[in-house]
Amino acid sequence: MRVDGACHCGAITVAGEADPQSTTICHCTDCQTGTGSAFRVSVPVAGATFQMTGQPTTYLKTTADSGNRRLQAFCPTCGSPIYSTSPGDGVRPSYVVRVGILRQRDRLVPKRQIWCRSALPWVGELAAVPNSERATVQPGESRSEKERTP
Ligand SMILES: [Zn+2]
Ligand SMILES: [Zn+2]
Repeated sequence: MRVDGACHCGAITVAGEADPQSTTICHCTDCQTGTGSAFRVSVPVAGATFQMTGQPTTYLKTTADSGNRRLQAFCPTCGSPIYSTSPGDGVRPSYVVRVGILRQRDRLVPKRQIWCRSALPWVGELAAVPNSERATVQPGESRSEKERTP
């Protein structure tokens, strides 16, 4: 699937050929910290097809949870995570792009979850949390409440 997107401030844009069947949720503690959120959703993009404008800042953690050395790239201006890849010079074989920066994110449905041993205990129960189509949950506006009301 052809994908494209940009960081929150637009300084960095990416495009390439992604493998939607490999869309993955990672619950490892590195991804929780690196996203500032509960988990990370990523999709690999073949290195030969990967295009980028702008210059991300990169960070190499010496010991990742997985034991692999992964180079993390993010926007130096707005902090959006862009991708991770294997350390080294030149075009890398694959760039694991962060789904939240891609315009096609609604079509990149996760096919597997990894590092579930550190998953936050509530991630499987989000549908039960009062929710709103916009910023504030008003009384009676929660979609889950509506579903309970015939
Ligand atoms: Zn940015
Ligand atoms: Zn992870």
